[in-house]
Amino acid sequence: MTRFSIFALLLAIGFSACAPAEPEQPNILFIFTDDHAQAAISAYGSTYHETPNIDRLAREGALFQNCMVTNSICAPSRATILTGTYNHINGQMTNGPVFDGSQVTMPKLLQAAGYTTAMIGKWHLRSAPTGFDHYQILIDQGPYYNPPIRTATDTTVITGYTTDILTDLALTWLDEGRDPAKPFMLFFQHKAPHRNWQPGPDHLTMFDDTTFALPPTFYDDYATRSDAAAQANMRVDENLNANDLKITPQGRLNDEQRALWDAAYGPKNEALRATGLKGDDLDEWKFNRYLKDYLRAVQSVDDNIGRVLDYLDETGLAENTIVVYASDQGWYLGEHGWYDKRWMYEPSLKTPFIVKWPGGVTPGQVNETLVSNVDFAPTFLEIAGAEVPAHMQGKSLVPVLKGGTDPSFRDAFYYHYYEYPASHCVQPHYGVRTDRYKLIYFYGLDQWELFDLQADPDELNNVHGQADFAEIQAGLEVRLAELREELQVPDDPRPWPPAPCNSDAEGWDGFDEAG
Ligand code: CA
Repeated sequence: MTRFSIFALLLAIGFSACAPAEPEQPNILFIFTDDHAQAAISAYGSTYHETPNIDRLAREGALFQNCMVTNSICAPSRATILTGTYNHINGQMTNGPVFDGSQVTMPKLLQAAGYTTAMIGKWHLRSAPTGFDHYQILIDQGPYYNPPIRTATDTTVITGYTTDILTDLALTWLDEGRDPAKPFMLFFQHKAPHRNWQPGPDHLTMFDDTTFALPPTFYDDYATRSDAAAQANMRVDENLNANDLKITPQGRLNDEQRALWDAAYGPKNEALRATGLKGDDLDEWKFNRYLKDYLRAVQSVDDNIGRVLDYLDETGLAENTIVVYASDQGWYLGEHGWYDKRWMYEPSLKTPFIVKWPGGVTPGQVNETLVSNVDFAPTFLEIAGAEVPAHMQGKSLVPVLKGGTDPSFRDAFYYHYYEYPASHCVQPHYGVRTDRYKLIYFYGLDQWELFDLQADPDELNNVHGQADFAEIQAGLEVRLAELREELQVPDDPRPWPPAPCNSDAEGWDGFDEAG
């Protein structure tokens, strides 16, 4: 070493001794569920139930009211989160394709930035996970009970309730699996509360003494909309089947689990058979059975988040761990008569997104900024001190996490749903949403919808083509075209349609006379 370099080294040591310490790269725990509506989280104002542990994250962190997904369906959302790109770029436009794991992903970049990475739970992308030092995943959708868990080397069936099991696996990896010399990024991804909403053993009779009222829009006749809403088949009153409604015996349960289920559902189903409900009364019963099972599944998620938060506190990891809660999209709890997702309408467009970042966000922050799941990858990369690749289409949320609501962060958001013909017959559509308006184009029908979300938050009154909104509409059309160009969206497919929709979602229609 030359005399000069020794001097430089001493100087550097001297400087670093008095400069503020570089913050350590924080750990990131990404807790992710499947199909969890904002309306089923009490921190978001659920009127149905309490989610104390998710609420605790919101109290200690930032809750985003306007987190929108680029495409409201499972695998496409996951691909967007991993890549920071829209689905026409990452190739996952529907649930169909095998995800191209050779592309640049956020977990790979985090590994390069010094992180140890793990994926535990629902992966749903068909190709083997890439960019992870460790993975234990459900195969495809995975079951609620006794799930086969696939690793890089084998597949093992674990007995129990999947939400509990995935939490056990996550805690085990945190405790003894990870490299403690490195910061970690753990993707902890539940199957729940995905269809068919099977509750865990602890919650089979929760809400038995409660009757929930139908949402005000349950009997929406879609009068002012395009033809798309009436064509879809995802209605609670018409399309839920006997398996969804737990009329038929559920698969995969072992003897002990089946005994618990029989004890819980047997008497309830016998009571239903005895009443012989029909018509609106049967609709209300279906809504209650559906909603309660959904909420029961959510309750196990919340319980298990509590276990993880307690673990972080007890081990001291909480101090330097960012905890994120999100779902792959929103969901309908009977609004407009529906279950499922897919639409650009608010309940499925918006997903829960809560970020606890000790020292990074002001606790209890409620953030109204228009943000998206396409922003997650750039955000985690910036937090990790890694460079965000120029091809990523989202933006780092670090400034809005630190600064609060910022209307200038994004003035307009582009959405695009593709999967048709497929389950539920939802016509493909794209559109633009601003803080107040939403313009949607159903390109297979060549029909438009425009909503004023301030005057009409439930989106019941399509004002497209009305003179009062001509200027607004023209402005949104321009913004939509600009976004499509900016995001390099290919032209609409023509000719249309590719095939008639033949989904067979004929639902259960009550016990008949013969039983
Ligand atoms: Ca989903």
